[in-house]
Amino acid sequence: MNLPSIDKAHLIKFLTSLLATPSPTGRSEPAIELVAKELSAYKSLEFSRTRKGALVAKWSGKSREAPRALTAHVDTLGAVIKEIKSDGRLKMSRIGGLQWPNVEAEGVWVLASKGERVRGSVLIDTASGHIFKDGNATPRDDDHMEIRLDARTSSASETRALGIQVGDFVVFDPRVEVTNDFIRSRHLDDKACVAILISAIKSLSDNGQTPSRDAYFLFSNYEEVGHGAAAGIPAEVHELVTVDMAVVGPGQESDEFHATLCLKDSSGPYHHGLSNKLRDLAEKNNIAYKTDVYPFYGSDGEAFWRAGGDVAVALIGPGVDASHNYERTHMDALVATTQWVIAYLLNE
Ligand SMILES: [Zn+2]
Repeated sequence: MNLPSIDKAHLIKFLTSLLATPSPTGRSEPAIELVAKELSAYKSLEFSRTRKGALVAKWSGKSREAPRALTAHVDTLGAVIKEIKSDGRLKMSRIGGLQWPNVEAEGVWVLASKGERVRGSVLIDTASGHIFKDGNATPRDDDHMEIRLDARTSSASETRALGIQVGDFVVFDPRVEVTNDFIRSRHLDDKACVAILISAIKSLSDNGQTPSRDAYFLFSNYEEVGHGAAAGIPAEVHELVTVDMAVVGPGQESDEFHATLCLKDSSGPYHHGLSNKLRDLAEKNNIAYKTDVYPFYGSDGEAFWRAGGDVAVALIGPGVDASHNYERTHMDALVATTQWVIAYLLNE
């Protein structure tokens, strides 16, 4: 089978616009809207929304038999305001597996619930090197990290007057950079894979092709807290391929230039039959892939399994270095994963 070509320029363009659209779990509607707008160009897709806010796109295939689903999540790590301090600065409560050292000195927006968004930055509470002799000794934790707002406030009441309340969302600058086909940004997990699904749809559509079976695409919005795809996969679906980042680092097989088939993660093994089918497809289509096991990792496929989903579940994705930190991947991994999704959709 000859796979259709992939529009890499479009993939990067959409990915960078998605990365620039803040979408912490719980406030991911703008990213869902962006995906919906992008996909609205494809007249063969039918759309629905779950009550929880996820987007489902259906592409009717050549056969009604054993429909398939693929999923990727738009939501990301982030934080909410936990406390407004007496000096006007803000303490945060983390969303998902955010690591404090990785956002120290980062620019943020506080999405004030009662006013305009407010700019600021994250600092330790012993930031000045001319006052605190050993800032290195300060623990980077919930108690010592704070937001300094770029607004005239030195009291809790002045901060509240900006429209900021406890529970308001905080989004961190993604710092997107594309150099030599490397893509460096926060939140490639899992926006890279959202862009991959869209790229696969575009590639098939541009080439006048249709999936061999009915296919559903679930763009989920609560993955980082463990229940994204727990709802939203239609009951008639037989197989679910979760598309999420592969873990790169010491001890891992995955790298930034391949797609990975994950065979086991923290929740246990994936479906052997479906994993083998994907492996065969990669071999037959010369797709650059690895197999791997992820140490501290859960996926939306498992969320659906735990919610009672009676389907075969597998997990593929591009290698992402420094995940949940300042992430990086390469175009080669994005292309390989897109090819894999296409090969799966076309497979009889
Ligand atoms: Zn993810």
